[in-house]
Amino acid sequence: MKKKINYRLISQIFFFALVALITMNHYLAESGDGLPFIGSMSLHAICPYGGVATFVALLKYGVFVQKIHPSSLVMLGIILFAGVLFGPVVCSYACPLGSIQEWIGKIGKRVFKKHNKIIPYSIDSKLRYVRYFVLIFTVYVTTNSLKLMFLNIDPYYALFNFWSEEAVVGGIVALIATLVLSLLVERPWCKYFCPFGALMGLTNFIRIFKIRRKSETCIDCKACDRACPMNIKVSDKEVVRNHQCISCGECTSDAVCPVEDTVEMKM
Ligand code: SF4
Ligand code: SF4
Repeated sequence: MKKKINYRLISQIFFFALVALITMNHYLAESGDGLPFIGSMSLHAICPYGGVATFVALLKYGVFVQKIHPSSLVMLGIILFAGVLFGPVVCSYACPLGSIQEWIGKIGKRVFKKHNKIIPYSIDSKLRYVRYFVLIFTVYVTTNSLKLMFLNIDPYYALFNFWSEEAVVGGIVALIATLVLSLLVERPWCKYFCPFGALMGLTNFIRIFKIRRKSETCIDCKACDRACPMNIKVSDKEVVRNHQCISCGECTSDAVCPVEDTVEMKM
């Protein structure tokens, strides 16, 4: 059988390399050695969560939060637009922190039999709402202080700055904990703590192209449930509206569902 091209993996590698290049270049540009076509753009300039964090301050005080640029709002707008169409595709196709958790998770799957089933449902189901608390809390504190307080615990920022003096201890601790936990749980940061994932997760309720299962052709093998990194029970739904879906397309893959066109992303 002809091997299919994994477009999602290609996209993940591309965005990981792009963010790494932008961060490195920003560092070099400060000593005058940066690449001319990128300029001195920083990670803050392309961070959509900066747009979320500054949005309320902009409405309330008419100012941007410290370090945040208008470009963050543009990024946020583009990503939200994609979210309204396809759900949180940014999480599964572009976010480098999501990608690295997924790659480490592949090692975890080989080593630990109970990978991604280790946390009891009663705890896991409650923990999944913590990210909404992180979202509300960080936006509230950021709006009142006009400082990016989330930076102090942000594993994403630490991932691309751990080697520089811009690294923050709290961020590095969060990064190490996230990467180690990824061996046991699929995307632990995304599932439990990511405030941007929380916001994007809400697009699952309004997205135009939805994950749909045809109950008439489904043979109830539950392969889609096993394939879902976010532990969503696709097999008992006609339409997936779960706030944790990251639009990864694992359940819609021909390699997973044995019955053609039974799980699809469509209007
Ligand atoms: S496997 Fe399907 S339901 Fe699960 S996160 Fe991916 S797209 Fe969403
Ligand atoms: S993998 Fe396909 S056939 Fe199996 S339960 Fe899911 S939708 Fe039904």
